[in-house]
Amino acid sequence: MVDDGQNYSVFNSRMLVDTVGNITDEALKATKIKDVIGVLVGRIFNWSQRKSLFPLHLGIKCCALEMAAAGASRFDAERFAVFFRSSPRQCDVLLVNGPITKKFADPIVRLWEQMPEPKWCIAMGECAISGGPYFQSYNVLEGVDTVIPVDVYIPGCPPRPEALIDGFDKLRQKIIRIGTLPEDNMPEASKPIIIGDD
Ligand code: SF4
Repeated sequence: MVDDGQNYSVFNSRMLVDTVGNITDEALKATKIKDVIGVLVGRIFNWSQRKSLFPLHLGIKCCALEMAAAGASRFDAERFAVFFRSSPRQCDVLLVNGPITKKFADPIVRLWEQMPEPKWCIAMGECAISGGPYFQSYNVLEGVDTVIPVDVYIPGCPPRPEALIDGFDKLRQKIIRIGTLPEDNMPEASKPIIIGDD
């Protein structure tokens, strides 16, 4: 019996996966099917991302009441495919709806980091945008964008539920742009949107 020190079962299974992967890859590349599949799958993922936004159910201050109203029966955000979830690991939108104190900066960044990619952030209300009534206060950040990149700003004190629903709609338009534009145009596409600025 020859013992050359190789673990053939592990070696062979890895080789098999690599070989099959390489052959399939080459065949797909040669026929351009890989590009077509890539574009198609990208479009499907992009469509499913924007058609099912999962904001984190996080209430910070009075703007959170408008968030609650947006989710309740009168405005019913679920009609617009906005589903509030209580775990950051199930969410793709961080909706910041109040002032971020310096003490709360670390926990909110931790929540953001626990959310899977791709993810977006909406700053709702003056407090989340700039500190609002607490602007330049000793213990409040001058906007959540000092610690987390913001995609959509919704000004107001507080913004109405309709404005929040409009914010989700603008976020959808941004997701379409990011998913369909070539890499070169990405900085332009990923610019933050300000509600009421058009
Ligand atoms: S923006 Fe106005 S309504 Fe919203 S949390 Fe700040 S003080 Fe409250």
